[in-house]
Amino acid sequence: MSIHHNFIGGEKSSGVSAIDNINPSDTNDSVGSFARASAADAEDAVAAALSAAHDWARSGIQMRHDILKKTADEIMARKEEIGRLLAREEGKTLAEGIGETARAAQIFDFFAGEVLRVPGEKMPSVRPGLDVEITREPVGVVGLITPWNFPIAIPAWKIAPALCYGNCVVFKPAELVPACAWTLVDILHRAGLPAGVLNLVNGPGSVVGQAMLEDPRINAVSFTGSVATGRRVAEACARHMRKCQLEMGGKNPLVVLDDADLDIAVDCAVNGAFFSTGQRCTASSRLIVTEGIHNRFVEACVERLSSLVVDEAVKEGTHIGPVVDQNQLDQDEKYIEIGRREGGNLRWGGERLKRDKPGFYLQPALFTDTTNAMTINREEVFGPVAGVIRVRDYDEALAVANDTQFGLTSGICTDSLKYSSHFRRNSEAGMVMVNLPTAGVDYHVPFGGRKGSSYGPREQGRYAVEFYTTVKTAYVRP
Ligand code: ADP
Repeated sequence: MSIHHNFIGGEKSSGVSAIDNINPSDTNDSVGSFARASAADAEDAVAAALSAAHDWARSGIQMRHDILKKTADEIMARKEEIGRLLAREEGKTLAEGIGETARAAQIFDFFAGEVLRVPGEKMPSVRPGLDVEITREPVGVVGLITPWNFPIAIPAWKIAPALCYGNCVVFKPAELVPACAWTLVDILHRAGLPAGVLNLVNGPGSVVGQAMLEDPRINAVSFTGSVATGRRVAEACARHMRKCQLEMGGKNPLVVLDDADLDIAVDCAVNGAFFSTGQRCTASSRLIVTEGIHNRFVEACVERLSSLVVDEAVKEGTHIGPVVDQNQLDQDEKYIEIGRREGGNLRWGGERLKRDKPGFYLQPALFTDTTNAMTINREEVFGPVAGVIRVRDYDEALAVANDTQFGLTSGICTDSLKYSSHFRRNSEAGMVMVNLPTAGVDYHVPFGGRKGSSYGPREQGRYAVEFYTTVKTAYVRP
């Protein structure tokens, strides 16, 4: 089997060993073999990015536009094929894989437009006769470290703005999903990206990621992943006094009030908690439900869950694919056991499932009779596990929703303008959803959270300019 190489300075680089990319729906199926970079490869990638930085920053907006647009068009034209690859390597369903691929194309399309709209200002000085000009310049070399759960969308929403604003990139994807990363970088090179502007180094975070963090030539790091690694990234960035942007975990609440439309509430809960196998940082993992609707809501959720098909990601009719790997499955099962031990009532699911192919199949788990103090409601599980918390009224629901170290998304299902408006204003989350699942966002508006969920400037939309540029103020005596 041929090995998919890394890209360093526009050259194929074979790394020190290979990563075998295993399909979580069928552990007998290998999605390919991918070069594993070393710490020295990461350093070479930084050197390549640095030597390309001067020319790329001055490459001109038409060239940058054309490359991003061409990339968007190729991704969109190949969305079925890449979506299938994504479903095979990550385990989300084919529909979700195709949807995510189309999203990556839309992101490149958006930033192809933004290249032509890099903001700047010119204004009079307080000193008569002088002008003041405020411009945005590239940050330089940016390190991008991404997780496995959105193998093409998250790389897209970091790489597209990085290139748009004239930066060079060292990109380290998660070890579990090298195929989408490789495909994206290949497309960008064929779209005309000059050598060294985007470098791909596959490999373990503790080696390749760590080498990037310790390299003083990297000017900014954007990271999405766990809180523990995020803290490490922030500490390294502080040591080097470089910019950093972190997207980490969530423990996102979905509040369901007595007056909610039951069908909408169940849709939001089941989609938000369990689709994409619950492996989204925006997943609803705490379902906070008022007394009057509680029993009807739980019954309807269980009925809905019992109709969902958990099976091979690419199989027609599958609603929920497998868990991404054995480690994550072990973590999910550990939390299910803790939930039981701490007194939660496992009302549905939670057991391993056998399917035709050997894969990491888990029946989505719904706990009832949980409290907000239980471990499963405090720590991020990152799997198809959710806890229902019964509350008296809206005030208690809001207090419970905000009682968490995280603050990525939150949601409320209600027909009341009064409560939905109050919730929108008082929820301590970066993104608030009304009668919508907590997961599922647009690409042209900011993405990010508060408290332990995020750190640094927002990602996506026009707001991405903040992280990927640095501001220069010039004073001119004409
Ligand atoms: P997850 O639990 O989603 O795998 P991680 O935070 O472990 O979350 O991984 C997210 C990304 O961070 C991955 O690309 C991973 O390889 C990388 N990573 C893990 N450890 C480190 C580290 N010490 N330094 C830099 N990157 C790391």
